[in-house]
Amino acid sequence: MGRRVAVLGSTGSIGVQALEIIRNSPSLELHSIFCGSSADALAGQIRRYGPGMAGMAHPPRGGAPEGVCSGPGSLRKVIEGADMVLNAIVGSAGLEASLAAREMGIPLALANKESLVIGGELLDDHLEKGLVIPVDSEHSTVFRCLAGEARPPAKILLTASGGALRDMPPEEVYRAPVERVLAHPNWEMGSRITVDSASMVNKAFEVIEARKLFPGIPVGVVVHPESIVHSLVETADGAWKALMGLPDMGVPISFALHWPDLPLAGAVTGESPTDWGTLSFRELDEGRYPAFTAVMAAFRAGGTAPAAANAADEEAVGAFLAGRIPFGAIAAVIAGVVREHRPRPASDYETIIEADAGARVAARRIMEAM
Ligand code: NAD
Ligand code: MG
Repeated sequence: MGRRVAVLGSTGSIGVQALEIIRNSPSLELHSIFCGSSADALAGQIRRYGPGMAGMAHPPRGGAPEGVCSGPGSLRKVIEGADMVLNAIVGSAGLEASLAAREMGIPLALANKESLVIGGELLDDHLEKGLVIPVDSEHSTVFRCLAGEARPPAKILLTASGGALRDMPPEEVYRAPVERVLAHPNWEMGSRITVDSASMVNKAFEVIEARKLFPGIPVGVVVHPESIVHSLVETADGAWKALMGLPDMGVPISFALHWPDLPLAGAVTGESPTDWGTLSFRELDEGRYPAFTAVMAAFRAGGTAPAAANAADEEAVGAFLAGRIPFGAIAAVIAGVVREHRPRPASDYETIIEADAGARVAARRIMEAM
């Protein structure tokens, strides 16, 4: 019998890819699926993939589709009995799922980086036990590069594509249209993370994520527009290790789901380094990415400040996508919320959720006054 995987966020960009990987792997089985509010997509996945169980957080008014559980307790019901949880829920809503996996002692394949950004110490013991396997492509790369290194490496360098607006004249970035921001040059992803890539909020989150996953190792960022090198590790003796390939989230998703084994059925594509073209690297120009700076300030403030920054960003991105604020205002909303937030130790779930809720109120107020 294969490893039974619970896929949370199954109707999203990562979730959809994971379901195909599981179906095509002889060593994986689909235990269950769970989503937010996409009832029709979920019903389609039940027919196509036949999971043992399905649930959703926000069923439509008329009730959840037949055979789908919802309401309090449904998340745990769906996880129960799984050998691995893939958390591909978007946003702070994903923290509850990561904590449930931790409490139940189930290995966690983590795409929901927000869990580590906002979760304070709550996942520390699961991390220490080696039960959190990163799905984010940069962190999957670092995870693989650290193998075989007897001494702690000198440095981690996360690569950043620069996002959809990297070549736009700076004076046009503030009012960049939604379609432009959503047109990521290298990756096809959910809308929130695509906007976060353009603002570099995503990269700031990834720095925090790396600090949690790989404690004690300095973390930097380098801009690499081609997205072929998926991050780098400088070893203790000054050599560089990296993982390369055309951008494809299937690689890190499959790696995490099979870990510590390698997939039996490989996704070998026949790609050649000659497909990659020229690779270039340049320093991150923080002046171009004020939202990056605002999130890093929250990280330095510590405690609940990153949770406040994340909630502010979720609200601001939602407002931007709805056409209510310009792209450039996202950074101002995050900075404003972080500035007025009084950090408390992020040592329990209720405190974090309270900070999240308070930051959303503050973000809406700041946006109304804009
Ligand atoms: P997406 O928007 O495509 O999908 C989000 C999924 O979460 C959907 O299935 C949705 O129904 C579900 N969801 C939303 N709110 C929920 C709630 N309250 N409870 C339960 N489920 C809920 O997002 P995505 O691009 O697949 O990203 C998912 C996560 O993976 C994010 O944390 C993102 O940062 C991370 N990630 C994504 C990529 C990528 O390539 N898409 C790469 C690296 C990391
Ligand atoms: Mg990433």
